Amino acid sequence: QIFAASSNSCFSTAAEPSSKHRTPARVPNLIGGAFVNSQASASIDVINPATQEVVSQLPLTTNEEFKAAVSAAKKAFPSWRNTPVTTRQRIMFKLQQLIRRDTDKLAISITTEQGKTLKDAQGDVFRGLEVVEHACGMATLQMGEYVSNVSNGIDTYSIREPLGVCAGICPFNFPAMIPLWMFPIAVTCGNTFVLKPSEKDPGASIILAELASEAGLPDGVLNIVHGTNDVVNAICDDDDIRAVSFVGSNTAGMHIYGRASAKGKRVQSNMGAKNHAIVLPDASEDAALNAIVAAGFGAAGQRCMALSTVVFVGGAKSWEKKLVERAKALRVNAGTEPDADLGPVISKQAKERIHKLIQSGVESGARLLLDGRDIVVPGYEHGNFIGPTILSGVTADMECYKEEIFGPVLLCLEADSLEEAINFVNRNKYGNGASIFTTSGVAARKFQTEIEAGQVGINVPIPVPLPFFSFTGSKASFAGDLNFYGKAGVNFFTQIKTITQQWKDLPGGSAVNLAMPTS
Ligand code: NAD
Repeated sequence: QIFAASSNSCFSTAAEPSSKHRTPARVPNLIGGAFVNSQASASIDVINPATQEVVSQLPLTTNEEFKAAVSAAKKAFPSWRNTPVTTRQRIMFKLQQLIRRDTDKLAISITTEQGKTLKDAQGDVFRGLEVVEHACGMATLQMGEYVSNVSNGIDTYSIREPLGVCAGICPFNFPAMIPLWMFPIAVTCGNTFVLKPSEKDPGASIILAELASEAGLPDGVLNIVHGTNDVVNAICDDDDIRAVSFVGSNTAGMHIYGRASAKGKRVQSNMGAKNHAIVLPDASEDAALNAIVAAGFGAAGQRCMALSTVVFVGGAKSWEKKLVERAKALRVNAGTEPDADLGPVISKQAKERIHKLIQSGVESGARLLLDGRDIVVPGYEHGNFIGPTILSGVTADMECYKEEIFGPVLLCLEADSLEEAINFVNRNKYGNGASIFTTSGVAARKFQTEIEAGQVGINVPIPVPLPFFSFTGSKASFAGDLNFYGKAGVNFFTQIKTITQQWKDLPGGSAVNLAMPTS
């Protein structure tokens, strides 16, 4: 079955009333401008994590359908790359207007499939919208360089050109922001794109693609295929795909980095995290604790920027009690309920895994200051809820410290000095981000200089950088050379061509000089 791309959603997950008798809609692929039902016999359920209702069914796209998507992208490339950059920018201007118009629709889809609160889902959309806004300035962002008269009558200049067909593979935790980190930059640079949303929450990607089409993005410039490992491997192996953007776990990210690189593709791979906050006793206690509670438990801890580990230094060790009180006051509920501070985690399996990590912490000697494992949310008894949980006295050898928990669990550690705290954080394999809370400029500057993390917060939790900067995770949190969005993002989706031209009256004669030219 084929649906024409239009502003009337061909696939609506959240707006429809749920009913036991309703057959969940199959999520369409987008191939060459048409939303198409996959012919695949295999599919997996997209599940509302607050209720366990099946929201939709996600097809495991067949290889033929995947090839059709790549070939649609390849076919669309020559005319799209020759479309003036100002025209491409105008489509982004329109897209940003449409995303604003439909923010609520996107947010409800995100909350239904991913579980985060509606307000948080709106933030998810907004932070992606900012990347679209950034792409509106692509003409300036991709400006080349020019040096006149590098030799007598000779000028050299460089231009940035699109690569061709690019692909993006997304995680579940930001169903709108992360697709928007990828395709707006890629297509405004003149590439065409194949997007593979998370199999857990594909709804926002479909809505965004409908909006892109309404904004005037030509058929075939953006394509969507659904699935899991097989379609991802097909992306890595396909000879027509030139670059792959990935965001997700280390296991998948390193596999994709290795497999796609081996086929000569550019890869940028943003992966897992274990972000630390160092709290010095001279910090503003209330501001620091509020920031830590928000960044530790927001989105039920399912953010790669979550502050999941706190290192209290010296006298700040006594602040744990207040931390527990604040965490205890948070309201756990379905994301659609107006009073919810945090919603469920993504799946039953995730809940089970998080429970196990909490238990392993307890068994290896950590103190459970707050235990959210037995929480029951009235009206949502089957939801994957975990209440805020705090483990204290954690040490580096504990499983709960070594693993990324990705749930509403905060680990507390202690250090006697800033030096000791920085050394401790630097021994962790991840380098996504780290924050310090202090009123000492000297301490903050030492932290900024010595900390081995790509994104640093000073008196703020780890910020997701605005799109005129780049998202700069490091160490095991990133593989590749060019980060997402900002200048690096434009460089990732373009290649440089350097041109040397000579325009002068050339002397006649028959002398040929075979020596290496010098100026
Ligand atoms: P995930 O790795 O399970 O899935 C991400 C994508 O990879 C999905 O589209 C999935 O289908 C695919 N995939 C998963 N396993 C695969 C395999 N073995 N082979 C091929 N493809 C595979 O990640 P997730 O659970 O959706 O997301 C959570 C993770 O993402 C966390 O580790 C989090 O820290 C990380 N994350 C990182 C950033 C960042 O910018 N650094 C941002 C968001 C999330």
